[in-house]
Amino acid sequence: MLCRPLHLLAVSAVCSLRRAAFTMSSAPILLARLVAAAHSVAEKAGATVRDVMSSGDLGIIEKTGANDLQTAADRLVQQSICASLAVTFPRLTIIGEEDLPSEDVSEELIETGASEEILKATFPSQYNNIKEEELVVWVDPLDGTKEYTEGLLDHVTVLIGIAYEGKAIAGVINQPYYNYQAGGDAVLGRTIWGVLGIGAFGFKLKEVPEGQHIITTTRSHSSKLVNDCIAAMNPDKVVRVGGAGNKIIQLIEGQASAYVFASPGCKKWDTCAPEAILHAVGGKLTDMHGNTFDYHKDVKHMNSAGVLAALRNFNYYASRVPESVKQALVP
Ligand code: AMP
Ligand code: MG
Ligand code: MG
Repeated sequence: MLCRPLHLLAVSAVCSLRRAAFTMSSAPILLARLVAAAHSVAEKAGATVRDVMSSGDLGIIEKTGANDLQTAADRLVQQSICASLAVTFPRLTIIGEEDLPSEDVSEELIETGASEEILKATFPSQYNNIKEEELVVWVDPLDGTKEYTEGLLDHVTVLIGIAYEGKAIAGVINQPYYNYQAGGDAVLGRTIWGVLGIGAFGFKLKEVPEGQHIITTTRSHSSKLVNDCIAAMNPDKVVRVGGAGNKIIQLIEGQASAYVFASPGCKKWDTCAPEAILHAVGGKLTDMHGNTFDYHKDVKHMNSAGVLAALRNFNYYASRVPESVKQALVP
């Protein structure tokens, strides 16, 4: 889970040249360089997710059971993200979902590019003095693995969340199969990114029509508690889809007004990037008690008290969480 230092001599040399270029006076700050790198790395990750699917051999392994899977894409993408970021930012703490043996990472998996758009963005001065060793990067190499194996391809995302002082401050979400049913000239895949104090980009912000309560929730990890909690919110509609990243995309694109998951199961790598992006556009994501998540490197990975999120009207949903649900979900 904790991504270890890797043996990548050839690419390290390239990266010291890049670092030297950034010592000029108007050099982008560390956070800008990291988000820009994460954007490029996430795009490569999306391509890897598609390549593994096209290969026809998903290499599926059951982790804790049939609803908790790992594929070759989960493994390759985690190696790619962790190794690529570690090359340029060796002092970061990077925590990935998959428990993988430490081994050399193929050079083909290394991406050292950086998004020009993000490098040129104006970052608030509050981020100027952040040091590499103070940042924690939470990586879900493939969110929605179950759906990936079932061909529900647009549910799948790659999540890279960045935390500082325990708070999710920036996130990158790649959706490898965005547009896959559109056909024609539609470009396949997209990358959404956001930073607190700047905003979120790579999509068009939209809200559900005023007064409508559309709840998005799990399709493969449901339970009585999950359904009781949703019923107490009196929704007009319930949308059941896979992936935490996918559900936050639904919130910011006006497909749903709240994400309700009254169950343990979601982990810090599921929520860090989505939370940062949602918060960057004025939304809110917490556990079912309304407590904010802590993303320090030593925290428990499991979000034991569930996930509650909304772009607007968070308080409507938070105020309707039944006491019985709160009592059942201990943080
Ligand atoms: P879902 O909404 O069911 O797609 O879940 C969102 C994220 O939380 C995915 O990464 C799931 O793998 C993870 N998750 C939720 N519940 C569980 C569970 N019971 N076991 C394993 N992973 C879970
Ligand atoms: Mg996940
Ligand atoms: Mg995953």
